[in-house]
Amino acid sequence: MKLNEFPRIPLGIFPTPIQKLENISRELGTNVYVKRDDLTGVGLGGNKVRKLEFLLADAKRRGAEVVFTTGGAQSNHAMLTAACALKLGMTPILILKKRGVTACQGNQLLEHLMGVDVRFMDTDDYADIYAEMDRVGRELGRPYYKIPCGGSNALGSLGYVACAKEIADQGGHFDHLICAEGSGGTMAGLALGARLYLPGTRVYGMMVDTDPFDEITPRLMREAAALLGETCEITDQDFTLRDMCGPGYAVSSAEGAAAVSLMARKEGLFLDPVYTGKAFAGLLAMAKEGAFKPEDRVLFVHTGGAGGLFAVSMND
Ligand SMILES: *Cc1c(COP(=O)(O)O)cnc(C)c1O
Repeated sequence: MKLNEFPRIPLGIFPTPIQKLENISRELGTNVYVKRDDLTGVGLGGNKVRKLEFLLADAKRRGAEVVFTTGGAQSNHAMLTAACALKLGMTPILILKKRGVTACQGNQLLEHLMGVDVRFMDTDDYADIYAEMDRVGRELGRPYYKIPCGGSNALGSLGYVACAKEIADQGGHFDHLICAEGSGGTMAGLALGARLYLPGTRVYGMMVDTDPFDEITPRLMREAAALLGETCEITDQDFTLRDMCGPGYAVSSAEGAAAVSLMARKEGLFLDPVYTGKAFAGLLAMAKEGAFKPEDRVLFVHTGGAGGLFAVSMND
């Protein structure tokens, strides 16, 4: 099936703008642009809306009434899944890892305002959580749909294949495309989409977690390509990974906190300490290493995270 033939429910406001960061460009001696996926138009915005347009269309098509998903206590993905499912008249149930800030702050506050059924499980293994979803789903006796952590399966990744096409349609060549990598679907979609629609653009994933993304990314790329009927030979030219996790997932790093401050002070734009701050710190590190020429055009994908910003202490 072709990308535009997949069932997809419009949820967000697209295309999101591409803006030049004039002050940061001047400071770094290159041309830095931001793709404003923090303005996707649902809740406080963020990248998961693009994936959910495909995932919830699939849920609806299968007759689901209940939508399960998971993540950490401050998962932006879980919050956005709940918001989108509610808009579509489905009942979201979030079964979250009891890790991170579980108090009624940040995304927990937003879920409280939406009246969402949030449950915590004291486990580090998502397999326990998916099993619990099946147990709860059977107990409810209503048709249900399970969305994996981060919405990062092949179908969800199509949202970012579509984003790459959107960037191509917005015009202008970019030499470098940079985003955070947390569960992998965003990067995999962008890397596959860049192969299809953005020739000559290099894609970089800034890893903010410790999962084996060198395996996860190509696997998701191949699976998403298979959905589109493309046979995709992944090579090491297709993407570059960089470890920006620092002391741990959702634990603020000094570089990440500095990047959040720089963006706020120079551009009045807000990054979050879990994903986009660490990813932008990766861009700053590349600039320092001389990875960008003065005439290069660098596109940073702002994947959102505003909800979590109000639950994490920056320690500065
Ligand atoms: C989930 C998320 C990411 C990472 O995207 P993945 O597709 O999970 O790799 C980046 N930024 C924000 C704000 C997110 O919520």
